Amino acid sequence: MGGREVNWQGKRVTVAGLGVSGIPAARVLHGLGAEVTVVNDGDDERARAQAAELEKLGVTVRLGDGATLPEATELVVTAPGWKPDKPLFLAAEAAGVEIWGDVELAWRLRGPGAAPWLAVTGTNGKTTTVRMLASILAAAGLRTAAVGNIGVSLLDAVTGEETYDVLAVELSSYQLHWAPSLRAHSGAVLNLAPDHLDWHGSMAAYAADKGRIYEGNSVACVYNVADPATEDLVRAADVEEGCRAIGFTLGTPGPSQLGVVDGILVDRAFVENRRERAQELAHVSDVNPPVPHNIANALAAAALARAYGVEPAAVRDGLRAFRPDPHRIERVAEVAGVTYIDDSKATNTHAAEASLAAYDPIVWIAGGLAKGATFDELVGASAKRLRGVVLIGKDRALIREALARHAPEVPVVDLDRTDTGAMSAAVREAARLAQPGDTVLMAPACASMDMFVNYNKRGEAFADAVHALAAEHA
Ligand code: ADP
Repeated sequence: MGGREVNWQGKRVTVAGLGVSGIPAARVLHGLGAEVTVVNDGDDERARAQAAELEKLGVTVRLGDGATLPEATELVVTAPGWKPDKPLFLAAEAAGVEIWGDVELAWRLRGPGAAPWLAVTGTNGKTTTVRMLASILAAAGLRTAAVGNIGVSLLDAVTGEETYDVLAVELSSYQLHWAPSLRAHSGAVLNLAPDHLDWHGSMAAYAADKGRIYEGNSVACVYNVADPATEDLVRAADVEEGCRAIGFTLGTPGPSQLGVVDGILVDRAFVENRRERAQELAHVSDVNPPVPHNIANALAAAALARAYGVEPAAVRDGLRAFRPDPHRIERVAEVAGVTYIDDSKATNTHAAEASLAAYDPIVWIAGGLAKGATFDELVGASAKRLRGVVLIGKDRALIREALARHAPEVPVVDLDRTDTGAMSAAVREAARLAQPGDTVLMAPACASMDMFVNYNKRGEAFADAVHALAAEHA
């Protein structure tokens, strides 16, 4: 089945999942003339209200049964999070019916002369990198937007009134799984650490889905020199003739790489005579905040922008203009000589390890829902920088045990609490452990849902507690 050129009139499309991607997909497809049925597992009040809205338009909605494939379905469009082994998909496959995710749908519905996509995936750093990239592209005077999991929805970006020169697109492993025909101008895999393995089934399957971002790239496949698995994915990809593999590194770059020399981000990929020359792009201090993993994000964003032909000065200006989203290594306050950092978005061990590598000495606030993770590697890598640790949340024993194994001398306060008020107690304990010059870092390495609605609320609780502490010291 094609895309925009398809005659959608009367096509029977099943949309799997009401929600952030399903509702717009149903509306757009219905608008194109398709006969749309939405199926949804849940049948709660919210779903009913959403269904009623769609039904008013003439869309059929089946609540409480996301497993059965409606008869005569010609195409399934699924929410990205739905697991591939669902009976609905097995039925579709058996019937030879194509399955598209939200990204595939947006890709197929692009108009003629549509903006090319610069795409970013990875276990951590996607949102930050895509926002940096959009900021750089905007500084170059291009009409652009950060789309995908963030900001504007992809479907809106390709079907809306607004036109773009180029899009900065964040893609999750789920979205990539369901996007077989996506062909980005250039793509980047920032890093690969075990995550969402229950969904993908194995690390190999997770990596393979991430690697789809490189398929059919026309100019550059951007990989992380420090993470050889990302380079392996480039090698495995089938790309267009002339497409180049471009590495980014925190060290001195080789030819066809971007890297760092004497505090300066340099490009040895998109310059003439790259064997002998390097082009200055920006200073490390232009990156906000200038901590190692974030400099890596900036280099990846710069590589994609340079692949698109952006001038060096715009890379610098775009990085300078970039402001991180809340709860991502956000400096909350300094109290009594101690700096308090909110990295509530560090919801897995790989993310927490990156932020723990950025400070020294640290009083670390950690714990929450571990999602099957183990903490030995993280604690082993960070032990030397830990002044102390305060543990909260449901799975804190896992972290306590890893600390006992790898950092037995580090003082640990186990709060034995999972109520919302525990954060305020944790900040007080951390303040007690910290000395002037230290950083109190809330990078929990766990999901937040045992104690909070989401990581935003966890970050807000931390900031509130720090501000209360500051008020007492004022
Ligand atoms: P994502 O969109 O992939 O979840 P974010 O940009 O929102 O990524 O960052 C999430 C968290 O991951 C941050 O709070 C930080 O702790 C961590 N992080 C960001 N960039 C990186 C990176 N390049 N490597 C490892 N961890 C990172």
